[in-house]
Amino acid sequence: MVVKIILCPSCGEEIELTDLYEGVEIRCKFCDALMIYQEGRILLVDTNEEFDLEDLQSYEEEEGEEEEVEEEEDYYYGEEEY
Ligand SMILES: [Zn+2]
Repeated sequence: MVVKIILCPSCGEEIELTDLYEGVEIRCKFCDALMIYQEGRILLVDTNEEFDLEDLQSYEEEEGEEEEVEEEEDYYYGEEEY
């Protein structure tokens, strides 16, 4: 089961995480970069850079299309004053 999808900080490809816990090692199957998840951040071992997990998250929201656009059309006809 895929828990999260992040974008590889090294090559930008999507990495599907099947597990996410403190200290888990993540290896990008595209560029072979090794990352370690710790304290809510992703450490890119190759360069010793840290990235916020949130920054690496893929924002493709395929489910839950929120339609917040509620145009009140009643407003149009509501100006009859007697
Ligand atoms: Zn990569």
